[in-house]
Amino acid sequence: MRKYWMEAYGCQMNLAESDAVEKMLLRRGWERAQSPEQAQAVIMNTCSVRQTAENRIWGRLGFFQYLKTRQPMVLVLTGCMAQRIPQELSERAPYIDFIIGTNGKLDLARILDCCVSPDGTVGNTRDVRLDGADCYHFAPLHYKEGDLTAYVPIMNGCNNFCAYCIVPYVRGREVSRPAPEVLQELRALDVSGPAEIQLLGQNVNSYHWEDWNFARLLQTCAETLDRVLWLRFDSPHPKDFSDETIRALASSPKIARHFHIPLQSGSDRILALMNRRYTVKRYMEIIDSIRETVPGATFSTDVMVGFPTETEDDVKATRRVMEEVGFIEAFMYYFNPREGTAAVKMDGQIPEDEKIRRLQGIIDFQLANCARIKARRTGQVQTVLVTGRPRTGETRALGKNEHGEMIDFLPRQELKVGDIVQVLFEALNGNTFTGRQV
Ligand code: SF4
Repeated sequence: MRKYWMEAYGCQMNLAESDAVEKMLLRRGWERAQSPEQAQAVIMNTCSVRQTAENRIWGRLGFFQYLKTRQPMVLVLTGCMAQRIPQELSERAPYIDFIIGTNGKLDLARILDCCVSPDGTVGNTRDVRLDGADCYHFAPLHYKEGDLTAYVPIMNGCNNFCAYCIVPYVRGREVSRPAPEVLQELRALDVSGPAEIQLLGQNVNSYHWEDWNFARLLQTCAETLDRVLWLRFDSPHPKDFSDETIRALASSPKIARHFHIPLQSGSDRILALMNRRYTVKRYMEIIDSIRETVPGATFSTDVMVGFPTETEDDVKATRRVMEEVGFIEAFMYYFNPREGTAAVKMDGQIPEDEKIRRLQGIIDFQLANCARIKARRTGQVQTVLVTGRPRTGETRALGKNEHGEMIDFLPRQELKVGDIVQVLFEALNGNTFTGRQV
């Protein structure tokens, strides 16, 4: 029996694509190895979004180089790093058998089939032909059996070229998946499988296929679902949030009333330098009109500090917006220059220690802010999806609500992962609610 080992790094899109590749391998008679030492094929689906991600992958490559001296094995590197620096990878790590860019992932199963025979014998890798796909192809199915959430890519790539971002260079221009394919995958998932579905795309709300836009797709997806509890999407761009999309958010109770809307900065000057193409005023209009259309909506965001020329006043402006919106969660990071992007060459780069200081300030601010907001929401009975058992003990259960918030609660009966129950949110302990099933 031949076995593979898959390592996926970075964003949810990479994880969904890795699941799709695994599905193909399993269909072709491969088995998932329990450790890399048992595998005849190792696949690394890489990330380039930050230098730290690439550093981690370089470190891991050293381990696989060692492993290749001990056992016959095919090593494949795919994803954004393979797309960004193929030459450097083949020079510094000549023991990698295949370096395959972001468009070629669906060819992986065929390549590995050519290299490893069904009895697990590793053959010659030199004669295998790479197709070199010049455009992105969507896999038909991405779901990993047993997961509570299924991630369904609906578009890939980005046309925006934010000044700090490597994505348009490694993922290419936007391509939207045909709506009938998306709906077919959703129908299959609704029969048996996940409790929630997340539509994915680097710029998910700029979806456009024939006469379908994001609003129409979202609404139709929600209408298609019966058994699935919540439908989510990530990541939208504020500049593409149309009124029609905002109306679609309220079209079905299946659409979770929690929205991740990247802010990045609360300073119009910095937003313009970042090439984000919205202002704070427009951002707040979107938030206000979602609040009006979808009562009870909550928000999360991405915030970056330390962008070139950022001043203390700009950071204060960001904090003001964070306070005004009251995000229940924020992914906060500092500007990390990526070779090839516009921001690398900008004047006014901020020293590393100052960026770290600003980041810590904004994290502390968000934690205090979000604890205050969440505390106001205790005393409510909410629908909860059971996700497992907490560390607090055998007699309790762990779950999450529509807003993605975790709750450690006392169940009334034996519960299993995937059950849906009503829970009274009684108190907040750190970032997790505590309560009891009603
Ligand atoms: S919208 Fe901006 S931040 Fe998002 S993927 Fe595109 S370039 Fe990157």
